[in-house]
Amino acid sequence: MKEKPMASISLDLDNQWSYMKIHGDEGWDTYPSYFDIFIPHVLDVLDELDLKITFFIVGKDTESEENRKYLRLITEKGHDVGNHSYHHESWLQTYSYEEIEREIISAEKAIKDATGHRPNGFRGPGFSWSKDLLKVLESRGYKYDASTLPTFLGPLARTYYFWKSDLSKEEKRARKELFGKFSEGFRKLKPYKWVLDKGQTIVEIPVTTMPIFKTPFHLSYLIFLGNISMGLMKFYLNIAISLCKITKTPISFLLHPLDLIGGDQIKSLAFFPGMNVSSDRKVHIFKKVIQRLSRHFALVDMNTHVTAILNNNSLKSKLVERIP
Ligand SMILES: [Zn+2]
Repeated sequence: MKEKPMASISLDLDNQWSYMKIHGDEGWDTYPSYFDIFIPHVLDVLDELDLKITFFIVGKDTESEENRKYLRLITEKGHDVGNHSYHHESWLQTYSYEEIEREIISAEKAIKDATGHRPNGFRGPGFSWSKDLLKVLESRGYKYDASTLPTFLGPLARTYYFWKSDLSKEEKRARKELFGKFSEGFRKLKPYKWVLDKGQTIVEIPVTTMPIFKTPFHLSYLIFLGNISMGLMKFYLNIAISLCKITKTPISFLLHPLDLIGGDQIKSLAFFPGMNVSSDRKVHIFKKVIQRLSRHFALVDMNTHVTAILNNNSLKSKLVERIP
């Protein structure tokens, strides 16, 4: 039998405060955490599925001893860790080189210190990234960046987010590129190498959207559909899987904490969109998604996936994209 192609799974470990912050809720700056509930919960679910994934961790969350206790469990269970910035500000594209450098290095050290593992991949909060960011990653010896989401729907998602939030005009201005511009939709879906000024390169692993249509199918969207109808969710996911197979697009599948847990367990965020769906229901949908994906792909963490991509040199013949 032919070996299945790989697909990688990653989770952006956004904490309670970062949801509150992006939503414009007071009290986020005391950094409330739900790690004590969420991390044991997600690790159990992943154990049941026998999955090893990548957790993109926010540096700020390593400051409390209580959080560190839970962060350590992640690597103890054999999962991979990535850098998700220090302060989880979704507008890295407005930062200077020095500011980005500070963000990356401080988070990298904090994550290494808390989990015992130095991250070798990065995902920008809110899919924010810039050329300076890629340069910093390359200079720190990172293997890959995973901050791009090639979809035309970014501006639409942003409009929805603003509508559901209590953000002031100024806060909205700072977040004006949240979830990316329309032009993000023209970016490549398949992994490729960015070529930087002096010829250095860094691998880009985009969050996979549906080939051709560029509509997202990460877990938040599938939970949304699955909660309307499981048939609809499976139909949509099957099209996405088929198109990825036909176009030979390797899948990088993204999860967020609130995709896997409901307001029944995280009461402080019970008012959030989608939190009326129970944890059991979300985990049930997630398991169906994983079942379907694993029929066609070997599911691995991002580090394993990137290493395999680099080893078989499949990026060599890919068009190298230059940043404007
Ligand atoms: Zn995030």
